[in-house]
Amino acid sequence: MTVRVRIAPSPTGNLHIGTARTAVFNWLFARHHGGKFILRIEDTDVERSKPEYTENILEGLQWLGLTWDEGPFFQTQRLDWYRQATQELLDKGLAYRCYVSSEELEAMREAQKARKEAPRYDNRHRNLTPEQQAAYEAEGRQPVIRFKIEDDREITWQDLVRGQVSWQGADLGGDMVIARASQEIAIGQPLYNLAVVVDDIDMQITHVIRGEDHIANTAKQILLYEALEATVPTFAHTPLILSPEGRKLSKRDGVTAIADFKKMGFVAPALANYMTLLGWSHPETSKEIFTLEEAAKDFSFDRVNRAGAKFDWAKLDWINSQYLHPMPAPELLELLVPHWQAAGYEFDLESDRAWLEPLTTLLAESLTRLEDAVPMSKAFFATTVELSPEATAHLEQPGAKEAIELILPHLDQPLEATTASELIQKTTKELKVKKPVVMKALRAALTGELHGTDLVQTWVILHQRGLDKPRLESVNSEQ
Ligand code: GLU
Repeated sequence: MTVRVRIAPSPTGNLHIGTARTAVFNWLFARHHGGKFILRIEDTDVERSKPEYTENILEGLQWLGLTWDEGPFFQTQRLDWYRQATQELLDKGLAYRCYVSSEELEAMREAQKARKEAPRYDNRHRNLTPEQQAAYEAEGRQPVIRFKIEDDREITWQDLVRGQVSWQGADLGGDMVIARASQEIAIGQPLYNLAVVVDDIDMQITHVIRGEDHIANTAKQILLYEALEATVPTFAHTPLILSPEGRKLSKRDGVTAIADFKKMGFVAPALANYMTLLGWSHPETSKEIFTLEEAAKDFSFDRVNRAGAKFDWAKLDWINSQYLHPMPAPELLELLVPHWQAAGYEFDLESDRAWLEPLTTLLAESLTRLEDAVPMSKAFFATTVELSPEATAHLEQPGAKEAIELILPHLDQPLEATTASELIQKTTKELKVKKPVVMKALRAALTGELHGTDLVQTWVILHQRGLDKPRLESVNSEQ
């Protein structure tokens, strides 16, 4: 059997971390088994679906490296299939037209509430006679199509994550609507549960891997597979992603869209790595840094937790830093460019490469997120620097301005890390001050701050750009 799995996002919003994590697990499972990963866009909700969300979803999956083998398929292009299936269920007597109006449904629910019963459809139109149907039609009522669910039916499956799961037919809310009333279409607009089953059968999906919030749908869908005389796939319900406080992760918890993680400076392999750990652990439990390909080799549902996975920003940051620190400068530079551009820094990638690459190397070791590079590199892009109050205060210290004065005459020669270090050393000796006095004075003059990237390297790059001399001069002239 060739494993065939799918991710089936609805384009009613941007690619969400929950959907992306489900996509990761599907992808890993497919790759582990040498199977196929299929992309299906579930766009039957015409009011809420938007092409820009589809665009965002495709882009996000591609960015993360979750390449698909077939699709994207669009449900709106497959309506005939759903109608055929609906017709088949009607013909078999497993589905029927229900004419109950929304007011009648409302009254039914109120009565159930008063009796302290759970709300459910009471199957009242299951056995209408042709005459009763004709009478409703004559009234102009638009029917929905309902699929019969027997109360005493027990639905059981072996879930790859949760083990045996059982569901009682009586707990599924009564006969379910599989197609909504529609003026134009005689058998209505297909709804989620029907469309998913028809597609999963047609696309020969062997394993349905999706969030735990779909468990009740699975019970209903198994009944539809049986009714359509198809093989029921294997199900795996992955744990939900929880907020750091343990609630279901929602928009209120801040960033949840993949595009926002990207904007904040997380790199795709790090985010994909982190998402893999949201519910799964490597067989070598201490191994936490791996590519998707590496994880795929060892992926199995035996190591997927049942408990919800708490979102941990500190862990994501740490993983991101593990990818950024060793990254080769040319590659990291490409990733930093958009962040610098967004900050309004001016440079020309090609003609400035000679100092941009060393700058990138200098920043790499301290980066957690790409956007950290913006404040850290401000002094390299500015033509003049503004001294912070602390920097100004330090330059008033005994020895500080003297150090600048002693260093200035050396700035017309080329400067390398060794010569820069020697110069600091020599100045310290001559002035008989402590080394930090000289170093802080230099840093204050060069960057306007007292803290930042490695001083010697910073100085070398600024020297290369001819920016060190004017900065030291401007501090020196303020005597
Ligand atoms: N369109 C559904 C969703 O986005 C798909 C669920 C499924 O995988 O069946 O939640």
